[in-house]
Amino acid sequence: MNLVGGRVVPAASGQWLEKLRPADETLLCRVARSGAKDVAAAVATARGAQPAWAERTAVERGDIVRELALLLRERREEASAIVAEETGKPLGLASGETDAAVEMGLFVAGEGRRSYGRTTTASMAHRTVLTIRQPLGVAALIMSFNTPLPNIAWKAFPAIFCGNAAVLKPSEHTPASAWLFGELAREAGVPDGVLNVIHGLGAEAGAPLVEHFDVDLVSFTGSASTGRWINEVAGRRLAKTCLELGGKNALVVCDDADLELAVRWALASAFSNAGQRCASASRLVVFDEVYDPFRERLVAGLRELDPQPVISREAMDRITDAVRRAGDAGARVLCGGERLDRPGWHVAPTVVENAASDAEISRTELFGPVTVLYRAGNLDDAIALVNDSPYGLTAAIHTASVHRAMRFAERVQAGVVVVNAGTHGSEPHMGFGGVKDSGTGWREAGVEALDVYSDLKVVNLVTDPMKT
Ligand code: NAD
Repeated sequence: MNLVGGRVVPAASGQWLEKLRPADETLLCRVARSGAKDVAAAVATARGAQPAWAERTAVERGDIVRELALLLRERREEASAIVAEETGKPLGLASGETDAAVEMGLFVAGEGRRSYGRTTTASMAHRTVLTIRQPLGVAALIMSFNTPLPNIAWKAFPAIFCGNAAVLKPSEHTPASAWLFGELAREAGVPDGVLNVIHGLGAEAGAPLVEHFDVDLVSFTGSASTGRWINEVAGRRLAKTCLELGGKNALVVCDDADLELAVRWALASAFSNAGQRCASASRLVVFDEVYDPFRERLVAGLRELDPQPVISREAMDRITDAVRRAGDAGARVLCGGERLDRPGWHVAPTVVENAASDAEISRTELFGPVTVLYRAGNLDDAIALVNDSPYGLTAAIHTASVHRAMRFAERVQAGVVVVNAGTHGSEPHMGFGGVKDSGTGWREAGVEALDVYSDLKVVNLVTDPMKT
């Protein structure tokens, strides 16, 4: 059911979608199949509720955000169980994500007592110049399924904290966690209409939200192709757009790396969450000298993995088709590449080698448990390979050399660089985002998120009008 103005309502059309469990394809729940009418009602409601919400002090808004985060912490087990069911991921992983969502809320709540602006000098005497943050108005929040609660938390907490009203369109694959978040928001005292939740398909519920003339900001986490469309459509009416998109992240293993550590991080980076992470290490660039032992250990390590399903049958077919095409084009599939013989949408963890850097499998984000091995002769080769990608989200290097690590960090095209660990995202206090096709340059999380959800206004204060 949708949440509009504090009321739980079905889609205007009365239509429903069926949400199946990825682990066994059984029915989890029915989801409101919303359309333009539902979106229009939610946007109008948000517009009506926003001014009064913006009148509340930042401290008050922060207190309500904190209350919501604490409620989510209280309901951690329930929330994590919902996420585990709707995504098919292990409960432990889902619980860690619930904790991450809570932490984001607590971090944002603290901004109620900071939200710093600047004071600066003016060229004229008897003047003070300062900046204050202003809400934008109505924010459309549209997100992917992969880590549903953090995906919501990274947008909803800063959006409402900054004094906006929001219409949240969760992924059609993860409606249940979004429903719970909406319920908790009501319980926490978020005023009716400040956080609305509209369920449905991207083309039917997401597109009208992007197209709506009265939406001031579209904050989107998802694929580059959808992001490109959103940027065009929202850009036409000059709405602000924050796009956090895909990655084809590389993890580099130098000849001086601790191989055991590098293999462990490569496995975790490529295959956790079935590779459905924007920061997943879908490319492994390995120095010639250690290529063979690294490959051997990596393939051996795959046997220890307990595969998790991908989100849908379509995703499973798309991923296995792409690996088949890579094989047809001359790459070698070292292991995996097919559906596992068990219920649900499981793709066998897959390692591919001998693919050209301009091959489809090297350039396309598969968002599944697939990684491709490449050889590099030296650090410059490795950096060139890493940068030879449409994406630039995260990158990692394994080396004992500070010089190599810093050279890599400085030259690699990515929003986040990691030395001697995995390709991963960030923590609540660190800005996260990428370059090239990975986004439009905004950063989510951290105080940088406030820049997405607010405008900075410069205030000129003449302190002694008689003297000007
Ligand atoms: P997607 O683009 O298919 O869908 C994302 C969301 O957009 C969903 O809610 C969907 O319903 C909606 N949507 C789809 N078409 C739309 C349209 N025309 N108008 C408005 N909304 C529309 O992506 P996905 O398969 O859910 O997610 C995978 C992608 O997300 C990957 O590319 C991944 O890297 C990326 N991702 C990025 C980050 C990041 O922070 N950079 C984090 C997580 C996921």
